[in-house]
Order: sequence, then C-alpha cells, then structure tokens
Amino acid sequence: MRDIRRIFIHCTAGSQKQTKNDLLREFKAKGWKSPGYHYVVFPDGKVEQLLAEDKISNGVQGYNSTSINVAYVGGIDNKGAAVDNRTDSQKDALSKLVQSLKLKYPNAHILGHRDIWGKTPVKWKKQCPCFDAEKEYAYLDDIKLEKYQDSTDSVPVKAEYVPLLQNSPKEPVSWWDKIKALTPWNKKK
Ligand SMILES: [Zn+2]
Repeated sequence: MRDIRRIFIHCTAGSQKQTKNDLLREFKAKGWKSPGYHYVVFPDGKVEQLLAEDKISNGVQGYNSTSINVAYVGGIDNKGAAVDNRTDSQKDALSKLVQSLKLKYPNAHILGHRDIWGKTPVKWKKQCPCFDAEKEYAYLDDIKLEKYQDSTDSVPVKAEYVPLLQNSPKEPVSWWDKIKALTPWNKKK
C-alpha cells in the first residue's frame, strides 16, 4: 500500500459536459501513461474512478507518488476563466468522496492543487481547483477517531459513506460502521 500523505482536489478545467471518455482521451493526447486523477465527480453527483488507489496518478508534479488526486468536472466559465461552478450535487458528492478517503487515509492532508504554491494568488501557476479546498475540508483534520472508540453517540460528521472505494458494499454504510471497520481498535490483538 502506498503511503498517502496528501489528497489533492482539482477541477478538470474543462466544460461541465466532459465525459469520462473525454477525460481519458485528453490524458492520452497529452502523452500521459496514467490518468490525472483517481476519481472524478460529475455535475449530477456521479463519481467515476479512473485509477485504482494503489496506482500513481498524474495530478501534481513532484507529489504524485504519495497522493490521491480527485477532480470535479468544470472549473472554467464559457470564456475559459477560472470559476467554481460546482453544482450542489457535485459539491455534496465531492465532500462525501473526500470524507471517505480521509477515513481511509487519516494522516493525509487535504488541499487544492494551487495550495502547493501557498495562499497568495499571484504565486499560483494555476487556479485549480478554483476554491479554497484546504479551508473547505479543514474540519476533517479535526476528527479524532480514537475519541469515538466506545460511543456511537458522538458521530463526528453527519455523512454517509458512499460506496466508491473498491470492493465496497453496494449499499451505503453508516459513517460509524466505516470508522469501526477502519480503526485499529477493531482489530483483534
Ligand atoms: Zn489541478
């Protein structure tokens, strides 16, 4: 298993009508051997996996071997200018995806592509993902899983785990069930 230290959020910087195949073609045209992202979130809230998590995607140069890359489809307006045009369904699906990844990789930091250049816009080489992902998902860093070891009452975030990860059940399972499945105290010593 790879040591995942960062979960990068991207936009595809293309039309909101882009399909999975459009994206795969785009990566191929660039001469990339791997897709740019592990997961892509579409405007209707659908999530597609482009690459297994144990494989290295081509999201952020210099960081890829220890990263999971996730993108929403969109991020530019009809003149090509950067815009956060995520739909409500897309925002919702993206946060659920990020939550489930954070559960799987609790030590990974969640940030936007542009955040590798800091918080000063003039230093950004790209606007991607066109919103402050680090800020939006900062609440996930505050979750201390151990705290909930003996209590089912204090569920930290109102969220349902969505069946995005490989070999996951078809039906969504509760956040608590997912935490129990992932946390070390659940394993027999
Ligand atoms: Zn990006």
